[in-house]
This record gives sequence, structure tokens and C-alpha cells, in this order.
Amino acid sequence: MDRPLRHHPPPTTDPLRRAAESATAFLASVAERPVGLPVDLVALRRALGGPLPAHGEDAADVVTHLADAADPGIVTTAGPRYFGFVIGGSHPAALAADWLASAWDQNACLYVMSPAAAVVEEVAAAWLVELFGLPAGTSVGFTTGATMASFTALAAARHAVLRAVGWDVEENGLSGAPPVTVVIGDEAHVTILAALQMLGLGRGRVRRVAADAQGRLIPDALVAVLASVSGPTIVCAQAGNVNTGAFDPMPPIAAVVRAHGGWLHVDGAFGMWAAAAPSLRRHVDGLELADSWTTDAHKYLNVPYDSGLVFVRDTRAHRTAMTLGASYYVETGGGERDPYNWVPESSRRARGFAIYAVLRALGRDGVAELVERCTRLARRIAEILAAAPGACLLNEVVLNQVLVAFTPPAGVDPDAHTRAVIARVQADGTCWVGGTTWQGRAAMRISVSNWSTTDADVESSAAAILRCAAAAATLGH
Ligand SMILES: *Cc1c(COP(=O)(O)O)cnc(C)c1O
Repeated sequence: MDRPLRHHPPPTTDPLRRAAESATAFLASVAERPVGLPVDLVALRRALGGPLPAHGEDAADVVTHLADAADPGIVTTAGPRYFGFVIGGSHPAALAADWLASAWDQNACLYVMSPAAAVVEEVAAAWLVELFGLPAGTSVGFTTGATMASFTALAAARHAVLRAVGWDVEENGLSGAPPVTVVIGDEAHVTILAALQMLGLGRGRVRRVAADAQGRLIPDALVAVLASVSGPTIVCAQAGNVNTGAFDPMPPIAAVVRAHGGWLHVDGAFGMWAAAAPSLRRHVDGLELADSWTTDAHKYLNVPYDSGLVFVRDTRAHRTAMTLGASYYVETGGGERDPYNWVPESSRRARGFAIYAVLRALGRDGVAELVERCTRLARRIAEILAAAPGACLLNEVVLNQVLVAFTPPAGVDPDAHTRAVIARVQADGTCWVGGTTWQGRAAMRISVSNWSTTDADVESSAAAILRCAAAAATLGH
């Protein structure tokens, strides 16, 4: 090979240096920066908008302009006091590896496009299967998030339950196929329904099973529902309710589904990480009895968006449901990994690098410590709020999720009061919390899942929440 031509100076370093400076300055500010403040949408559109440039601009200046113009619309989800949704953050090792993945411009589609991306996925996949205690040989796909992980898992399930009755769904589709019954808990995440809608399994055709006061699927209710179901069956359970953090009891659910001959899927978008923490592992006892699992890396593992994971026990069903070649032949036993065989996408970002990096940086005990610390901090904020007059804890804090309602002054609607407290907290900027409806009641939802959150963050946030609650009670809404 001829020696490659070299450019002097390399033309790309200036924008990269500006981006690195801007990113490091931003990250140095996240602990102090207001977490979320009202945004002037008109100003944001004006700063970022304008006509399509007729001529190109200097790349480094584009970076500087973007960083400045976007800043008022950047929510500090990377910081330690963002408690909305279940967001996580970006561990420095994961973020740095993600920068490299972009710089390398690797396509995690085929082995030949990036042997490094393929091997890093192989290594990280084996580490994750071990970390979660899943059956050896379980196959893993690196998806955009939990939604696509569940889509992938349920596509594998659809394949397997129809194959068992002699129907090839990949070749023949669902027209004329034996009906597939999907059973979900009443508290299943909406993205399970989204996956079913995309797979032609129908969100309206699901059979629902009652859940208890914490949102856990009730095994006896599942027994009753399955007694009236025959033919191909898929059951979706959950590890980590998005409001309460509660876990469906796996051993009895797995036993019923196994006896019925169905496929058991578990949505563990954030809750599955309890498996990696010795003091919390009991919540997911029996996890390994399922057939497929969904989790996110961009939540608890604190890798940048977007990053989800799908695990499937029946490797052949997984690959057949996803492969572009629709071949039944599994080539991974000693062969190279072609990452596209395990996810819906063909070309995609090499998101395995960030997962690999954070797993190396934390190690098994570091992951356990991260999950246990978030649980401890969630309990701490729950304790402070529950001890204050005017606040009422609505859930058992088993993991990182806390639900609180606020007692209104006489004559004020309780839900309106709780929503007013949430709005004040969001405008205050000390921390950010979201709202939800839990069992018909408005609630503040607090989720602790950032690697950098400390006791001091939780204490100052609890104080800000109580300040906002007092202001809402005395000043009105
Ligand atoms: C967040 C979440 C999802 C959806 O995950 P995405 O990564 O946003 O696709 C699904 N299920 C549960 C329980 C979740 O918490």
C-alpha cells in the first residue's frame, strides 16, 4: 500500500477542540447551573433559526455558534439534580468512548465494517449476561433504547410461538396466521403496547392482568387469565414499574407461563439493574427464568443516548426475527459477530464502545455501588419529604423511584395543589422533578439515576421541594 497522504495541519482539529472546550466547560458547570428554567421558545427559535445558509461557514465557528445558541434550551439532565422521568446521565468514561465512536465513524452493521465494534459488542454482551445472571449463551442486541429492545424481543417471541404451531411469520406475515395472545400486566409500560402495535400483534387485543397497589402483576390473576387462553401465547412482565419502581414477582409468573407453554418477556428498562447489586438482587429473583429481557444502558448505566439492550434466550429465534437474510443458520458459534443480526437496524452507531468503557471503568462492584447509591439517595429524599408536614409518600421505595403527593390548604383540590408544587419546583431551578398520575391521584415523581448525585444534592433538592410546597400552600397557585 502507498503511504497515505497527510494534511498539514489536519483540517478537523479546530472544531473538535472547540467542541471539547465547550463540552468540558458545560460539564464543569452542571452542578451549579439551574437544572431547568422556563425557556423563551421564540428567542430559542430566533437564535438557532434563519434561512438555509447559501454558503458554508467556518466549521469551528459553527460549533461555537451552536453551543451559544442552544445553551438556553439545554436542560441539565447531565447534572446531579435532574430527577425527572428516568434519565441517568453520562459517566465520563462512557461519554469519552462515545466521542471516539463518532470520531472513528464506525458502522456497527457488519463485522467487516468495524471488527472493533463487533468484538467490543461481543465482549460487553458476555459481561452483561454475567452481570444480570442470565442463562449462558443468551444473545444480545444493542438497540436505540428499551422501546426497540422490547420490539426486538417480542419479534423473537412472535417467531418462536408461531414456529411452534408450524407458521413461519417472517416469510408469511401475520395474515392467515394462528392468533397470538399477548398478556400484559395492567401496569405495563406504554412502550410494550407500542412494540405490539408495530409488530402487528395489536395494542387493543392484549389481555390485561390486574396489578396490586404497588403496580406489581398479581400471579393468581395471571393464572385465571391464562386458564382462558389457548394457542400461541406471549406474557410480558416487568422489573421496575416506571412510577413506583416495583418488581413483578418472577418465580410464580415464570412457573405459570412455563406450565402454559408460553413465552415470557421482562421489561426491565431500569429495574433490571437491581440484579447487578447484591443488596437489591432479591427483587429480581427468578429473572433468569424468562425467555427475553429488555433494559436500557442510557438510564442506570449512565451512557449517553441512545442505548438500549435486548437479551434473548433462544438465540435462533432472536436472529431469525431480525436478520436481513432470514436465514435459520446461526453463525456466531466461533464465527464473527455481524451486529445487524440482533437489532432492527442495518447501519447504526457503534454504541457498544460506550457500554464497554463504562463497564470497564466501574467494574462489577462499581455498577453495584452506583445502583445501591441511587437507591439509598432515593430513600433519603423520600424520608426527608415524608417527615415534613404537608407531604405524603405514595410508594414503597424499593429502588430509585419516589412518588409524593402534597396536602392542600382547605378548599383546594389535592391534585391541583400537587401539580402546582411540581410547577414551582420546575421553575425554581434547584432540581427538576416530573409529575404523574398514580392510581387516580396526581403525584410528584422523583427518579434518582445519575452517577454524580450526592447526599448534598438530595438534601438541597428536598429543601427546595419543601420550600415550593410551602409557597404553593401560602401564596396559592
Ligand atoms: C424508560 C422505559 C421504557 C422505554 O425506554 P426507552 O429507552 O425510552 O425506549 C420502557 N419501559 C420502562 C419500564 C421504562 O422505564
